[in-house]
Amino acid sequence: MCRQVLYILFITLIGISLPTVASSSFAPLSSADASSDDDNEDDDDNEDFEEEDSIQICCAWGLALEDGTLTYHIDDEDSSEREQQAVKNAVQEWDTKIEYLELEEGSSKRSSDITIEFDDNNEEEEIAGQTITISDSYGFLAKAQITVFKGVQEYQFDTAIIGQVAKHEMGHALGLGHANFDGNLMAEMVNDGTATVSECEIYAVTAANQWKLGANNDEHAVPDYPQHDSITC
Ligand SMILES: [Zn+2]
Repeated sequence: MCRQVLYILFITLIGISLPTVASSSFAPLSSADASSDDDNEDDDDNEDFEEEDSIQICCAWGLALEDGTLTYHIDDEDSSEREQQAVKNAVQEWDTKIEYLELEEGSSKRSSDITIEFDDNNEEEEIAGQTITISDSYGFLAKAQITVFKGVQEYQFDTAIIGQVAKHEMGHALGLGHANFDGNLMAEMVNDGTATVSECEIYAVTAANQWKLGANNDEHAVPDYPQHDSITC
C-alpha cells in the first residue's frame, strides 16, 4: 500500500469487501506536511529512496482503467467559474500529457472514477489539498476523491495555486506518492513545488499503471501491480 499516506484505515462498504482508504495531503506552508507525520517510512525496501531524485509510486488503477479511460467530476458548488476552470485545466494537462490515458468528464459525481470538490479555508491545518483513494479488494484503485482547499487560515489561494494543488492531487489520484526533492509537482509542500506536469510524473504515472498505460497498451491487459515502489527522475 501507499507508504506516504497520512493514515490507512479499513472501512466496510456494501458490495466491496474491506476496501482500503488511503489519504494523502498536500501542505502549503513550510510546516510539516500532514503526511510527514507518518514516520513509519522505515520499510526495508524503501532504504534507497532518499538517494536520488525520485517519485514514489503508490498504486495502480484496476478495472476502471480497462478501456484506457478514467472519468472525473468537478463539483460546481463552493467555487467560482475561474476556480473550476483552473481545476479543469489541471485535469486536461494530465489528459494531454499521458499518451494512453483519457480523462473524460463523467455524467455524474456518483458514476465518476475521480471526484474533485472544493472546500473553503482550511482553518485548522495547513493543508491545501487531499486525495482519498478507495481500493478494491485486490488493492487496485477504484475511486479517488480529491478535495482542493481554497485557502488556509487567512490566506486565500489564487487560481494559479488552485491549479497547482489540483494537478498535485491528480498525481495522487493517478497512483503517485510524493517526490523526495523540491521543484517538482509532487513535492510535499506547495511552495517547494512546481505547477507543471513534467516528464518525470508522466513516467511515474505510466509506471504505476504499467499494465494499461505501458508502451504495449494491450487491449486485453488485466490489472497488475506496479513493478517498483518509486521511479528515478
Ligand atoms: Zn501530496
